[in-house]
Parts: sequence; structure tokens; C-alpha cells
Amino acid sequence: MSLLIVGSIAIDTVKTPVEEHSNLLGGSASYAALGASFFSPVRLVGVVGNDFPESEFQFWKSRKIDSEGVQRANGKTFRWSGEYSWDLNTRETRSIALNVFEHFKPALPKSYRQTDFVLLANIAPSLQSHVLDQMERPRFVVADTMDLWIETARSDLDALLRRVDLLILNDSEAREITKETSLIKAGRRIRKMGPHYVAIKKGEHGALLFGEDEYFSCGAYPLEDIHDPTGAGDTFAGGMAGYLAGTVKKVHFNDLRKSMIYGSVLASFCVEAFSLERLRKLSMEDIAQRYETFKLMSQFEVPI
Ligand code: AMP
Repeated sequence: MSLLIVGSIAIDTVKTPVEEHSNLLGGSASYAALGASFFSPVRLVGVVGNDFPESEFQFWKSRKIDSEGVQRANGKTFRWSGEYSWDLNTRETRSIALNVFEHFKPALPKSYRQTDFVLLANIAPSLQSHVLDQMERPRFVVADTMDLWIETARSDLDALLRRVDLLILNDSEAREITKETSLIKAGRRIRKMGPHYVAIKKGEHGALLFGEDEYFSCGAYPLEDIHDPTGAGDTFAGGMAGYLAGTVKKVHFNDLRKSMIYGSVLASFCVEAFSLERLRKLSMEDIAQRYETFKLMSQFEVPI
């Protein structure tokens, strides 16, 4: 089954304490689409400018990422620049140039409207809702968000949450949206705002999953070398939603647990190189191997 993904497509500049690279392909939808494409065909929705490399459209085609829903607008592609501090967990946005993103209004091709699974990757919640408005009763809706929308578009976000099956956000966003210090209370509270399930990411400390009476906690893969954390969250969301769309008819909590491990596996690869470079070279065997390691890591009773 296909997965529709809407989000940003960007050209990034990223600075870590040891390296700086510019003109990198980025954006929430770019990371999410590539992450999801390992499990299911993707229908991509976004906007790019005249400066966007044509080669990327060819790459998407080679990965079963349908780009009919990507608008080519007159002007420059959205640009974002960020700088990480020493722990690589905290980051500051240095600059944003919205460019063609400023007047972006997602318009779904007819062939996209009946897609069963949807990932609303990080963009303004009003645009995420606008995508849902054009769809014919999707079966499972996953949404991502960020602190900017919690602070500047709260009523749009609240309206969106009532239409979402799974919300994915990070720990500080979960605390900010609920004003709870405990992540357990925050997860429960967010469920009351609409989403049936909530996934809270904790960076290098793993992730939590909340259902009605169910709860799951997964660790993060212990990586020695992190080069660029950009897009880890989007890749995590793409991996989760892609796994669900590609393998599950009706989503149960156990499927979500598995999808969370796959999301974590993909995110762990994403950060091993700048931009999408590690994900571009990734194979299903790499993914399967790391998934098995995850399983072993979470075994607490080992037979002697
Ligand atoms: P993440 O590291 O998962 O938060 O995602 C980083 C990506 O999000 C970068 O590639 C940026 O181009 C993109 N991004 C940054 N700010 C925004 C924004 N306000 N809306 C949409 N995408 C953004």
C-alpha cells in the first residue's frame, strides 16, 4: 500500500562543531520519503524552485517515490541553516529563507486522493489539514510537528490533532504542548487532545509509545560516530509510517511497536553522514541487521 507524504523540501546548510556543509538536500519530506521508501511506495507532495537539482527527481523515480505531487514554482527552493552544539542534541536555526515555500498550497493530484496511509511531515499545521481536506477518508494518519507551531499556530495544531491517529513529537515539544514535566503524563494528555497513539522521541535516549492502555519504550542504537543529526526525526517518522503502510492492513499496537524499532533503525543510519548520503546507500540487509541487533539489545533474560 502507498504512503502519501507532505512536508518541506529544502536546501540546507549544516554546521556541527567539527564540520560545515552547504547546498545539502534536506527538508522534512525529503528525509521522510527516503526513509519510508524502504517499506512502501511513496506519493510525495511539496514544492521546489528552479534551483532544485533535476537529478533528485530521477533519484526519487528510482526509489518508487512518485513526485507528481511536487510543484515546481518560479523562484528559489526553501533554504534552512542550522548549527549544532557539542552534544549534537541541541541546535539553533541560523537562518530560514522561505522562498517558494512562502506561497505553498499543497494540491493533491487526483491519483493521490485515495491513499490509505498519510504522513504529514513537519510543515505548518494549516497546510497539513489542507492535505487531509483533499483526501477521501485515509485509514491511518501520522503527523509530525515542531516547537514553532506549538508557539505560533496553536489553534491550527489543536484542530489538526483531532484528525490524527499517531502524533510524533520530541520530548521538549511534548512538555511544551502539555505543560507537564513528566513525559508519561504528557503522552497521556496528548492522547486526550485527539491522537489515538503518541510517539515521543528522546534523541539519543530512545522513544516512548502510548496507546489506550498500552505503553512501549525503546532504546536508541548506540552509535559511536554521529556526523549530522539533521533529519533524524523525519527519517524516524518516515520509517514508522512506511513500515505501517507497507506491511499492515489494520494497525494494532504491536505493529506500532515494530514500526518504532524500524523508525529508530533508519534514524540511526541517517545521522551517520551529512544530509541524505547514508540513506541513499542503505540496503534492506543493513536495515535487517540493525533491527536484529535492536532485538538482542532489548532482551533482558538471555538463555545461558
Ligand atoms: P529535523 O532534524 O528532523 O528537525 O529536520 C530537519 C529538516 O527540517 C531540515 O532539513 C530543514 O530543511 C527542515 N526544516 C527546518 N525548519 C523547518 C520549518 N519551519 N518547516 C519545515 N521544515 C523545516
